[in-house]
Amino acid sequence: MFKKILIANRGEIALRIIRTCKEMGIKTVAIYSTVDKESLHVRFADEAVCIGPAVSSESYLSIPRIMAAVEITNADAVHPGYGFLAENSDFAEMCIEYGIKFIGPTPEQIRLMGDKITAKETMIKAGVPTVPGSGGLVKDVKSALKTCQEIGFPVIIKATAGGGGKGMRVVWSEKEFETQMEMARKEAKAAFGNDGVYIEKYVEEPRHIEFQIIGDQYGKVAHLSERDCSIQRRHQKLVEESPSPFMTPELRERMGNAAISAGKAINYEGVGTVEFLVDKYGDFYFMEMNTRIQVEHPVTEEVIDWDLIKEQIKVAAGIPISGKNYIPQLHAMECRINAEDPFNDFRPSPGKITGFHSSKGHGVRVDTHVYAGYTVPPYYDSMIAKLICKAQTREECITKMERALDEFIIEGIKTTVPFHQKLMKNEDFRNGNFHTRFLENFDFGQKKNH
Ligand code: ADP
Repeated sequence: MFKKILIANRGEIALRIIRTCKEMGIKTVAIYSTVDKESLHVRFADEAVCIGPAVSSESYLSIPRIMAAVEITNADAVHPGYGFLAENSDFAEMCIEYGIKFIGPTPEQIRLMGDKITAKETMIKAGVPTVPGSGGLVKDVKSALKTCQEIGFPVIIKATAGGGGKGMRVVWSEKEFETQMEMARKEAKAAFGNDGVYIEKYVEEPRHIEFQIIGDQYGKVAHLSERDCSIQRRHQKLVEESPSPFMTPELRERMGNAAISAGKAINYEGVGTVEFLVDKYGDFYFMEMNTRIQVEHPVTEEVIDWDLIKEQIKVAAGIPISGKNYIPQLHAMECRINAEDPFNDFRPSPGKITGFHSSKGHGVRVDTHVYAGYTVPPYYDSMIAKLICKAQTREECITKMERALDEFIIEGIKTTVPFHQKLMKNEDFRNGNFHTRFLENFDFGQKKNH
């Protein structure tokens, strides 16, 4: 087992990893940028190294600075968390060069799934259903339009290097296609430095259902059931739950097998997530695979009673898995609490938290790095806490979530708590009647001049 793990991340996930390491008797090293000096991950780690200024490119995204921290602290493994360098194959490669373990898949596995087109091709070979489309980068408007005619509008233009819901455009008719494609290319170039785009059929009113998988170093891959992440705003997840209200044992069997095939196709090592779109007929299509721990992993932890970070570290240390699949026994749901104003187009609301009381009680879990007196910096992701509830049934879980949201007090900044309170009362949501565009017609209670 590893002796000392450096956590190449910040915020709640850094703290989450530290907690598990402590329970496993592994020493921890936190890295931080100057603005994160007062962060809890810095306080709770055994050692902490300041690696640079606030701007991510000179701190949390700087491979040379992180490797320098590895060297001076003598860490024997790195946990990348999610975001930042978690899916950067160069970083994973660099860890090998330094003789330390990158807790995650191999650089090759990251590469195979990181580029969306390559991933799709790999899945087609493995017999996993994918969304019909251009089957590769589109060269020009003319050939792109030919694909559109074959598959029919609406279509979605996606950046091959895209991520985090960015670099995607839905096109409803031929006449707007050319302009949209140009804009998609420009956006992709600006955001990812790569203007390669491809086309997919736009699946209407789909659900986003993903499977948590785990693979060991000896070729075994198992699934830990699904999470429904259909509640999204601008392709970004806000609420996740397991099991999916749409799931049946038969569909779980088929999707679970497809997720395992996806993992086996690349000999996947570590925890990962295979994302699918599911249409109303129960047909499902591979969308992408995330080769890292995900934000919403606690939902799965709660329904099968596992510590996924612990399992991830064990697999990285060469411990084999049982290979058994797990089916949820309870219902769990996560609300992402962001420092954003839901009454004002979710505008970021960084600043000092003057008062803080986190929800408590049976079946309630809060993963957060913030506290009263903490200042949310404007430089990073706006998520400040994850509120996770579990109960015997979905209905009880929602009731518990309402209760937990009511007692979650965050003063000094605006948060998405009021949005979640509204969502929990929505009849369609309560009935499990929703899809990925559900929030497009949702009344957020926008307050003008607020
Ligand atoms: P990212 O890597 O940026 O997260 P994804 O490929 O995972 O992008 O897609 C994010 C979201 O975009 C999905 O959850 C879904 O809501 C929507 N989406 C992506 N592809 C399609 C499609 N072909 N049809 C309909 N919606 C899609």
